[in-house]
Amino acid sequence: MKRIGFIGLGLMGSGMSRNLLKAGYPVTVWNRTESKMRHLVEAGAKAAKSPRDVAKGSDVVVAMVTDSVDVEEVLLGPSGAVHGAKKGDVFIDMSTISPIATREMAARLEEKGVEMLDAPVSGGVIGAENGTLSIMVGGKPEVFEMCRPVLQAMGKTITYIGGHGDGQVCKAVNQILVGTTMLGVAEALVFAAKAGVNLERVHAAVSGGAAGSWQLTNNGERLLKGDHEPGFKIKDYLKDLSIIMDTAAESKTPLPATGLVHQLFRHCDAMGMRDKGTQAVVVALEKLANKRIVE
Ligand code: NAP
Repeated sequence: MKRIGFIGLGLMGSGMSRNLLKAGYPVTVWNRTESKMRHLVEAGAKAAKSPRDVAKGSDVVVAMVTDSVDVEEVLLGPSGAVHGAKKGDVFIDMSTISPIATREMAARLEEKGVEMLDAPVSGGVIGAENGTLSIMVGGKPEVFEMCRPVLQAMGKTITYIGGHGDGQVCKAVNQILVGTTMLGVAEALVFAAKAGVNLERVHAAVSGGAAGSWQLTNNGERLLKGDHEPGFKIKDYLKDLSIIMDTAAESKTPLPATGLVHQLFRHCDAMGMRDKGTQAVVVALEKLANKRIVE
């Protein structure tokens, strides 16, 4: 059985590494804030002193950190995993980062004989804890096949998309859909509130029809209760929007709907709402319409 190294025990990484242990893999962990390793060690993981140390005792190293610069630091930085890796090892980056940065890192790792997969996820903290994540994978197909059982320990729907960075492109597609749908839900509910109709009945009527969606069912319901707590935080979505916009700029792709979404989430940021859930974008629309959906 492959020895797994896991870097980044945040909200997502904790549950994911725990599921690798449950599947029977020997797991070595490292987290920048040392205290977060304790509960994984209690569950049977070995603690490492650095990303380099993680790679020394592993065949496959998973990274679940924040953004492109963070992945670069833990994989290729001065104490990065690459310095402890042997030829043929695989690094799987499961963070949501730039496809462009991913392709650059994969090329640098290949020079050192290390394979890379980008395998960002959708499904949130609950999916990470329950091992039900959707995982979108980029990299060489044979490396993907080799790592499929490792990914299956953390996710339910594992989809090979294509070459290096293509998993991250797929995640960006997911985030375009999440944001534009969320804005549509918020706009429709403000419209309904302004028209004075019963919002619960409208929500029930449209949820089961052609306009139905996860965002309408789940975040729509939260909005009707006046619940703006995360779920998925505005600050995290702003990171994803930057990745989407940079990637679209590189390929000269206009994203008019996502552009509007970006501006309204920036408004939320300016209003001090970074730690609210993405459904709180409704506040921007409520201000424009001078009408709150829950008084
Ligand atoms: P999180 O709770 O903030 O955890 C981030 C982890 O990365 C922490 O362990 C942090 O270490 C580590 N880290 C960040 N920068 C680092 C650096 N430069 N060097 C070393 N360690 C570093 O975030 P999360 O919610 O687990 O998200 C992780 C990734 O998954 C992100 O890319 C996010 O976009 C993506 N994602 C999140 C969700 C979600 O619902 N939360 C869903 C899908 C995808 P410390 O503990 O020391 O801070």
